[in-house]
Amino acid sequence: MREQIELLANIQQKDNTLKQLREQIFQVPLRIEEKENRVRELAEYLETDKNRIEETQKLQRQYEAEVDDGSERIKKSKGRLLSIKNNKEYQAVLKEIEEIKNENAQREDKILAFMEEQERLKQALNEQANELTNMRETFETEKTAIQAELKEAEKRLWKEEAQRREMAKAVGTDVLRTYEHLKTRIGCPVVVLAKKTTCTGCNLNIPPQMYNELQKRDSLRFCPNCNRIIYWEDGNGISG
Ligand SMILES: [Zn+2]
Repeated sequence: MREQIELLANIQQKDNTLKQLREQIFQVPLRIEEKENRVRELAEYLETDKNRIEETQKLQRQYEAEVDDGSERIKKSKGRLLSIKNNKEYQAVLKEIEEIKNENAQREDKILAFMEEQERLKQALNEQANELTNMRETFETEKTAIQAELKEAEKRLWKEEAQRREMAKAVGTDVLRTYEHLKTRIGCPVVVLAKKTTCTGCNLNIPPQMYNELQKRDSLRFCPNCNRIIYWEDGNGISG
């Protein structure tokens, strides 16, 4: 029984390793996806900036055409001024010219703002494009590393699983069944060490009678408090 208890403790350790390996393998696609998302987000950001540049260029052309149109109207109105004799009408045309001038000035301001915005966006776009290129390169390197890591983890998992099967065979069906049952019911850890007179699973004291029996290591013993399989290791005595 002594070997079986030790084996059981080793199986438990093995199960922890297997759990970690499976978790590591499970995380691989998530890690890759997360990186892919970051690359995509930046690419989308870039696309938004590009669209905004095109949009402002279109608006700029529209305003430029309106300014040209306004200038043309001003020219015509000035021409008309030469032939107007009526003062009221003269004043009206002057006012009209003034209004068009004001409108054109506002359009010029907007055109200037669009040009400044385009300048800013183009600069940002340049930086983002560089960043995206770097990010894509880094991502490829990281992906290769993650995939290599995955292969290693899978290989190790197979090896550990094979070892676990051997250990399970050696420990025997009954003992293993008890362990599995407790694992489902209590969760890990199931096999715990008695340290001095304390169960390390629940940190409560073990009854003195049981404490003596534990040292015989002749059968599976369970903590009366937490029901875990409790075992004894040499060098764990009261003085140790
Ligand atoms: Zn306990």
